Amino acid sequence: MTVLMQNKTKTEWTFRGNGGLVAASAITVRGVLSRVMESLDGDDGRVVVPLGQGDPSTFLCFRMARIAEDAVVDAVRSAEFNCYTPTVGLKISIGDIADHLSHDHPHKLSPDDVYLTIGGTQAIEVVVTAVARPGANIFLSRPGYPCYVARAALCGLKVRYFDLLPNEGWEVDLERVEDVADANTIAMVIINLGNLCGIVFNYQHLKEITETARKLGIMVIADEVYNHLAFGDMPFVPMGVFASIAPVLTEGSLSKRWIVLGWRLGWVATIDPNGFLKDAGVVESIVGFLNVSPDPATFVQAAIPRILEKTDEEFFSKVLRTLREAVDICHDKIREVPCLACPKRPEGPMFAMVKLNSSLLEDVEDDLDFSVKLAREESVVVLPGIALGTKSWLRITFADEPSSLEDGHQRMKAFCQRQVKKRHTGSTCSSERGCNL
Ligand SMILES: *Cc1c(COP(=O)(O)O)cnc(C)c1O
Repeated sequence: MTVLMQNKTKTEWTFRGNGGLVAASAITVRGVLSRVMESLDGDDGRVVVPLGQGDPSTFLCFRMARIAEDAVVDAVRSAEFNCYTPTVGLKISIGDIADHLSHDHPHKLSPDDVYLTIGGTQAIEVVVTAVARPGANIFLSRPGYPCYVARAALCGLKVRYFDLLPNEGWEVDLERVEDVADANTIAMVIINLGNLCGIVFNYQHLKEITETARKLGIMVIADEVYNHLAFGDMPFVPMGVFASIAPVLTEGSLSKRWIVLGWRLGWVATIDPNGFLKDAGVVESIVGFLNVSPDPATFVQAAIPRILEKTDEEFFSKVLRTLREAVDICHDKIREVPCLACPKRPEGPMFAMVKLNSSLLEDVEDDLDFSVKLAREESVVVLPGIALGTKSWLRITFADEPSSLEDGHQRMKAFCQRQVKKRHTGSTCSSERGCNL
């Protein structure tokens, strides 16, 4: 090395960053949001209204259940949980999750059917990695949760899309699923409750989804990290109810229902009374994955039984009440703005998908441009639909404090009004805020 330097020979380093990771992260919510947030005007002096990412844990009105806090504190203080845990999780905790999930459907789960993960995000990683094989493809919804796209890309799994139909209550376009599937399609991901459009699929539709999966010989990956957060008329029905039709891998998490997004505790459950997943080696692959990956913090695992068994119903009802009020504010405010439309009032958390008609606005090209300019001029952050595979849409969270929501929507309205006015007057500059940006 020293000799090379003395000879002024340039060393050709053999290492370089993994470009695949950079490409995959560009299509995650965080990746796109950070592009929007770069345009926030730091000198604005106003509080930023974050309507892009749904993390209500920072708002007082969404303060998590006291019992959950105590369960974690006691687990830490006991000094019994400073150890590693078994690969699949603490026995008592997976047993409790198995019981918890078994309440909701006819298939009684055993602890052997449940695997703890570091949040719902790692549950996605586990599931996608466990089924990935060369040449295979997986079905994802559009709009969808971008983490699946990124994870599939990292695992070399191809992606096929089916649409959720905005004018049919965002139901799955099952005909398209049948048309596009081929012999290499292995699974379809169904997010219910759908956090993107606030959808709650009904019993019949979920049944049809599993029947389609059976026809195609594919499994259903049910992302239920938002389970039981439905606040409209439609009750939440877990996909596991239909597991005798097609095998179901369910992903769950404490994050959203208990509003502890940073605790990083999730799970995967195999709901498969006919044992197809086991026969196909999927169960073995899940355990294999967990054997080579870290586990959720032991004291959080240890707190699970108390959290699941003892959380007061009043906590859940308060969250649902708060969300219901929040959705009213969001929905009413959006209706006041002509260039925005929300085809279906959300019945589940925490977002509304809002159609953007940028042709009514002067210098807004598309959803990304709208989000960037809105952040710059009004310090309001929303997620452009492009991050979810749906251009010309915006995803707006309503899981925020009511006064902040009102303020955010007011600013968004002001932004749109300025843009409409410019279009009509043809002016490109006036004394109004932001127009010379
Ligand atoms: C938030 C979310 C996850 C990830 O859950 P975490 O527990 O926060 O990691 C997975 N799927 C969907 C649809 C989500 O919205």
